[in-house]
Amino acid sequence: MNHPLLGIDLGGTKIEVAALSPDDGRFLLRERCATPAGGYEATLAAIADLVQRADARLGVRGLPVGVGIPGCISPATGLVKGANSTVLNGRPLDRDLARLLVRPMRIDNDANCLAVSEAVDGAGAGKRMVCAVILGTGIGAGIAIAGHAWAGAHGIAGEWGHNPAPRLPEDRGVPAPHCWCGRGVCNETLLSGPGLSADHLRHGGALLDARAIASAALGGDQAAQASLSRYAERLARALAQVINVLDPDVIVLGGGLSNIEALYDEVPRRWTPHVFSDVVTTPLRAAMHGDSSGVRGAAWLWRAHP
Ligand SMILES: [Zn+2]
Repeated sequence: MNHPLLGIDLGGTKIEVAALSPDDGRFLLRERCATPAGGYEATLAAIADLVQRADARLGVRGLPVGVGIPGCISPATGLVKGANSTVLNGRPLDRDLARLLVRPMRIDNDANCLAVSEAVDGAGAGKRMVCAVILGTGIGAGIAIAGHAWAGAHGIAGEWGHNPAPRLPEDRGVPAPHCWCGRGVCNETLLSGPGLSADHLRHGGALLDARAIASAALGGDQAAQASLSRYAERLARALAQVINVLDPDVIVLGGGLSNIEALYDEVPRRWTPHVFSDVVTTPLRAAMHGDSSGVRGAAWLWRAHP
C-alpha cells in the first residue's frame, strides 16, 4: 500500500510533477515543463506526458494523482471555476484527466495545496488548522485541517483575496482601485504584488515592482518605507478578520511577497488591536517549502486519512 504519492502543480507558466515517499515526504522524482500556450487540449496532453514519464521512472502504473490548480472544481457544476489560467475554466478537468490517464484524480486549489504541504511537514507541522495565503501576482488562500484541505460548500473556503480591503486614514483623497472581479476594492487590489506597486504609485512613489519597493525601503527610501508600512497595516487588518472568523493555529505566507522579512514582525504586532481577544498569539510564518509547496501539497492530496 505504501506506494509513492504523485502530484502535479499546474501553473500559468510551468507544470511540475513530483513523486513523494509516503513515509517521510522525500522527493522520489520531480520534473517540469513549460505550460503549453496551445490551450486546454495541449495542457491535458502535457500533464498526461509528465505522469506517464513518472510512471515509467517509478516502474508503477495507474497511481492516483493529485493536481493543484489556480481555481477549483465547482461542486455545483463539476467544472473548473475561478482559474486565472482561463483555458481551464468551464472544463471537467478531473474527469478528462481520469479518462486520459485511466486512474483516480483529485484536484484542489493551489492555495489549499500550499496549506496541506505546510501542514503535513512544513511551517505548520503539528498545527491542527493551517491557513495559507499566497501573496503573489494575485492572492490565493486556503485552509488545511489535520493535514487535509478544507474545500467548503462552494469550494471557496479561505478565499479572502476578494473580501473588501480595509481603508486607512492615509487613503483619504487617494483614488480607490477597483478589482477585476467587479466586487469593488478587494484585498487583492492592494495586497498582491501589482497591488503594492500601484499603491506606491498612487501615493506619489516611482513606478517600481514589489521587490524593488522592498529593497528601496531597506535602503532607506522614505516613500518605499511608507508604502511597506501601509502594506503591513492592510495585511494585518485583513488577516485579523481571518483570525476572528477561523482562529487558525498558524498563518503561513507563500508567494513572492512572503519574502519580505519585516512582515513577520510587523504584521502580528499590528493585527492585535483588530482581533477580538485579550491576547493574540497566532504565529505568522513563511512557507518552508517555498516554490515546492504546490506540487508537494498536490501529492499529499492522496495521503491516507489518519
Ligand atoms: Zn476582487
